[in-house]
Amino acid sequence: MEVTKVYLASPRGFCAGVVKAINALTWMVRVFPPPIYCYHEIVHNRLVVEAFEAAGVIFVDSLEEVPSGSPIMLSAHGSAPEVTEAARRLGAIVIDAVCPLVTKVHHEIKTRAQRGYTILYVGHRGHEEAIGATAEAPQSILLVETADEFDRLDRIDGPVALLTQTTLAVSDWEQIAGRAERVYPSLWKPARLDLCYATTNRQGAVKSLAETADSLVVIGSANSSNTRALERVGRELGIARVLRVNSATELPDDLAGIVAVTAGASAPESVVADVVAALNPSDGVAEVATVEEDEYFPPPPELRELLSGLNAAASLLFNTKVERVRFREESAADSLAWLVSGSTRR
Ligand code: SF4
Repeated sequence: MEVTKVYLASPRGFCAGVVKAINALTWMVRVFPPPIYCYHEIVHNRLVVEAFEAAGVIFVDSLEEVPSGSPIMLSAHGSAPEVTEAARRLGAIVIDAVCPLVTKVHHEIKTRAQRGYTILYVGHRGHEEAIGATAEAPQSILLVETADEFDRLDRIDGPVALLTQTTLAVSDWEQIAGRAERVYPSLWKPARLDLCYATTNRQGAVKSLAETADSLVVIGSANSSNTRALERVGRELGIARVLRVNSATELPDDLAGIVAVTAGASAPESVVADVVAALNPSDGVAEVATVEEDEYFPPPPELRELLSGLNAAASLLFNTKVERVRFREESAADSLAWLVSGSTRR
């Protein structure tokens, strides 16, 4: 049997937070000689991480591994306040690539804790985003991963707030939120859901393909929460075969019929192209779009200050006008291509 048709889910792949983080770390590589240290993987994608490693970035899970005076980047998943402070004491320059939608949850946690709430935080235990967020108010937070866990909790006295990791499966969140609302009728929830637009849009796009697809291929890494959520959605919708691959080389050779393809928010589009080419459908490829995304997150303020300082210095030294960096026009795919071409020259 052969693959007859590929339906490409849209939106898929890079979100605005990942674009911001990849471009910011690429600027660090351009400006500083290696090594540059990054606290945690910049985004959860093996190929992206390997491209930065080849360009001289060292990923660490503890700041103790970072020599004093090094340039440091903090990952897109958001860091605990004590990590950010320690990095600022240690690094020559520290750039925080946290996604603004994760920062929003950090703010909500701080505010609710200050107002005396007990916070139920729905998230994956051990995931960097959950570790960073819960560290904002550890004394006021209970992390809940599943509906069963919620059921086993002792009844909470006083005001209760419900917040969440940005990248969960919508169905997981709804199950826990529904139970929490029944148990705590005056439960506080943010006006705008903490699950991010990229997470909900990518899951919605998979839903639109579920009825037609014989199989679903999800491109992304095993430690990417939003990627795992896409697999989960595919299974819940009853797609007969759901598999996750890092790259086209991991595709099995017995896929057949109609294959839906999607990619997690940190998976490069170049891998999508490789996967489609490897599937080689006899009746071609069609993209099915459910929503258009035009979100843009500006680069971290520390990076903008650094680059405008460098530009000013270059103008003074060389008496020449240096062109302003047009951040909005930067593509993360181009950044990755530049890294790969640079590392082959090194
Ligand atoms: S998946 Fe969502 S929260 Fe994570 S970086 Fe992208 S936009 Fe931000």
